[in-house]
Amino acid sequence: MKVPILLPNIFNHPFTYESDLNLKVGEYVVVPFGKSKITGVVWDEFEIKNNRKFKVKNVLKKLDVTPLKKTTIKFLNWFSIYNMIPKGMALKLVLLSSNAIESFQKDAYKNFEFDIKKNSIKLSYEQKKSLKKMNFSNQKFRVHVLQGTTGSGKTIVYFEALKDIINKGFQGLILLPEIGLTGQFKKKFLEFFGFTPAVWHSGISKKNKEIIWSGIANGEIKVIIGARSSLFLPFKKLGLIIVDEEHDQSYKQDEGVTYNARDMAISRASFENIPINLITAVPSVETYENIKKKKYSISRLEQRFQNASLPNYEVINLNETKLEKQSWLSKKIIDKVNSHLNKNDQVLFFLNRRGFSPHVLCKKCFNSYSCPNCSINLVYHKNKNILLCHYCGFKTSLKRECIKDGDCEYIFSGPGVERISEEVKMKFPQKKIEIFSSDTMNKKDSISKLEKIINNEVQILVGTQLISKGFHFPSLNCIVVVDIDLSSQGHDLRAAEKNLQLYHQLSGRAGRTGKPATVYFQTYNTNTKMISDLTNSNPDIFLDKELDIRRKNKLPPFQRFISIILTGDNEAALEKEAFKFKTFIEDKVIGKILGPVSAPIFRLKKMYRIRLLIRGPKTLKLQNSLAIIIPNYKFQPGIKLSVDVDPINFN
Ligand SMILES: [Zn+2]
Ligand SMILES: [Zn+2]
Repeated sequence: MKVPILLPNIFNHPFTYESDLNLKVGEYVVVPFGKSKITGVVWDEFEIKNNRKFKVKNVLKKLDVTPLKKTTIKFLNWFSIYNMIPKGMALKLVLLSSNAIESFQKDAYKNFEFDIKKNSIKLSYEQKKSLKKMNFSNQKFRVHVLQGTTGSGKTIVYFEALKDIINKGFQGLILLPEIGLTGQFKKKFLEFFGFTPAVWHSGISKKNKEIIWSGIANGEIKVIIGARSSLFLPFKKLGLIIVDEEHDQSYKQDEGVTYNARDMAISRASFENIPINLITAVPSVETYENIKKKKYSISRLEQRFQNASLPNYEVINLNETKLEKQSWLSKKIIDKVNSHLNKNDQVLFFLNRRGFSPHVLCKKCFNSYSCPNCSINLVYHKNKNILLCHYCGFKTSLKRECIKDGDCEYIFSGPGVERISEEVKMKFPQKKIEIFSSDTMNKKDSISKLEKIINNEVQILVGTQLISKGFHFPSLNCIVVVDIDLSSQGHDLRAAEKNLQLYHQLSGRAGRTGKPATVYFQTYNTNTKMISDLTNSNPDIFLDKELDIRRKNKLPPFQRFISIILTGDNEAALEKEAFKFKTFIEDKVIGKILGPVSAPIFRLKKMYRIRLLIRGPKTLKLQNSLAIIIPNYKFQPGIKLSVDVDPINFN
């Protein structure tokens, strides 16, 4: 018989093979492809109108793996259309390095043995009420939002919901935005369930991945805690998906195959017809709109643990105090911090900028240090004594021959966390200080560093936004936002939302154990209304306003955006091509084309970048119209096109 086999490659259709194995949809097979052998899956339909004449080859063998479910195949077909990704690339997300893993001996899974033990954790009245609402109509697809202030015990509520599902014989998936979180999270999980969950992210070993992949396919493993990519595991009997921190924009995969894991989790739940829970302190604008429309149900937790109150806010107007030269901390803030330190409070200085200085120039020739591959300044990292491009990884040393004479001499303009940490060291020489950024916390010793912070052996932290991600530091009761910068909202439609989330998450780190806590904002910005909006304890007010703005301006979630980026190494040719391409698609696409304009980072990794933004209705018609036109356009050699549906970052 003839069978359609989808292969994990760039093709958007299955290939036809011959086999007498009586194959069924979803089964994994090995087939010859070109000169190699490749793993594929029996797909649910043949390629339409295949007129090519070639000999149909035979399937080599069938693999002993639980077949991919038909509902999962339907999800992948939809995923490919929605995100404008070839079907083969969608399948590639499911397979493990383009392979399917056959089952191991039973004891390979013993580390993940599922054995729920009794715990002594008791739910509060509010938590119980919330759980009841969450478990309502738990047998089929529905989206429920659990909204609760940071520290209100949301995790325990959805753990209970998950326990229920596992006890019924289903598998569960918990998506987390940051892998840095999984350490503290795993501990919490173990305390509650009494067994270790399988953790899935790009950093785990190949062997572990094989065991987990096969254990999910054969049903031996019950729970996955994972990053974005875990959404594509071949679950045998998935019964519940939980998206923790659903508002977190790192759910968006920006490079390669682009998709939003939160949104795709919702659609996978819909195809599998299972419930999904979105967990957040402040919902994303998209989710908020769906709550308002009553598409999603919601329950709320308003009390914090041990009745801790949310931190107070205080704005420190930098126009009223004079900062010393090469200093970023006002006298007023030093006094405030001292009084916190005297009470044994831990203090965090927050600045969302890695390294020492974001802009280095020569005081003789005034030339900046910028990246040779990207149109962006190099950041000076003093600890490593290098200048670094945060986009392409280009590195260079400070030494440069000056066009005037001798070597360049440097001016360091503006601070990063390293520089603030130097100033903090000078002002508080007796205290133990630690920098908390991806440069310092993604290393082997980061677990012991975390322990020290939790035990208050570190009195002062200087951190980037990494610290806003769900860490629990019991003594942290004072946060200083070194420079709240609300001005850079030019090209990013989500800037206001991003700020709301960042400062809400950040202040949620403080005052978690009942002591009074304060967040101080140093700013030159006299628009303090903006700050009070951001810090309002009722974020709905902000979200309502934001929805109004989005509605009026025809922005997501009311319309769909698709971003098309053209890249090429010849600036003039690229520009010409972008206009030609626009004219070509203009009257065929169901939507309005904005641009072409140079991307904010015009040059990245040696390539120039021009962006077209297409705005249209929220139906697949928009994607379909583009999918028909784009292949008919022949790009000049060297010009590449990439598509991003529902873009989040507009770099
Ligand atoms: Zn670069
Ligand atoms: Zn110079």
